[in-house]
Amino acid sequence: MHTLTAHGATIPAIGLGTWMLTGEAATTSVAAAIQAGYRHIDTAIGYGNETEVGEGLRQSGVGRDEIFVTSKIPPDQLGADEMLRAAEGSLERLGIDQLDLLLIHWPSQTLSAAETIRSLNRVKQRGLTKHIGVSNYTIRLLDEAWAATEEPIVANQCEHHPYLNQDKLRAATDKHGMIFVAYSPLGQAGVLDEPEIKDIAGRFGRTPAQIVLRWQLQKGFVAIPRSTHPARIRQNLDVEGFDLSAADIAAIDELRSVGTRICDYDISPEWD
Ligand code: NAP
Repeated sequence: MHTLTAHGATIPAIGLGTWMLTGEAATTSVAAAIQAGYRHIDTAIGYGNETEVGEGLRQSGVGRDEIFVTSKIPPDQLGADEMLRAAEGSLERLGIDQLDLLLIHWPSQTLSAAETIRSLNRVKQRGLTKHIGVSNYTIRLLDEAWAATEEPIVANQCEHHPYLNQDKLRAATDKHGMIFVAYSPLGQAGVLDEPEIKDIAGRFGRTPAQIVLRWQLQKGFVAIPRSTHPARIRQNLDVEGFDLSAADIAAIDELRSVGTRICDYDISPEWD
């Protein structure tokens, strides 16, 4: 699996998403994924599964230093002291000494992006995480965070799939030299029945999910698909060794006119 590099962070292009994976399912999915070759696991304090994800990391039998582990601080724990405590709790539950990447999960509604990134700087400077990043940040919030940070902000994790045009936000992450990590990269499976995608899948002898993930990779995104099925977990990693044509990519890009945004809540910022 190829990797993307930004500001000294090297992130495997496919990671396992773990939102909504709880209990034994979280442990077995994480262990199965790592045994299948995944080297990138995405969790969050808010998913309530860090203990089980940590157990999966250990059950995999693969060394800690070979796996890129991301977690996220929830929006109600972004004060300086709270953030530090939250990061310590995350490490304790995961059973690891240091995260590879710690993200602000959603922008704060009460604190500025400048203030919260400075607090996240301190968490990194204390050695709790190798790299820091943000999630669900808009162009304005990225600019504000970059103006205030001492440490590089390596990634912005945001929704991206064929039904959502993120060109403007992608241009902003590129401007800052950041990696755009695509969450809900399969549009929570909603895009997989699109005739256009099925047609391309048929021509390549691949599944629709593999075509969508290949499209993400060729466009320069990191993608973190989630699945509870071992066969799908393996399939989602097996997206190297073929190339979509420019016409295939353009055909999938056309689907963005649908304009579906899945993760949109009261706490969402004003999207670009
Ligand atoms: P997703 O990965 O786009 O889609 C997951 C859905 O697709 C599941 O229903 C899964 O079903 C199905 N699926 C997976 N692989 C498949 C395949 N090969 N063929 C057919 N169906 C397949 O959705 P997501 O969970 O929303 O996003 C992925 C990850 O991004 C999350 O788990 C989380 O880690 C992260 N995320 C972050 C944020 C944020 O605010 N930062 C927000 C949303 C998500 P089965 O389990 O039945 O296979």
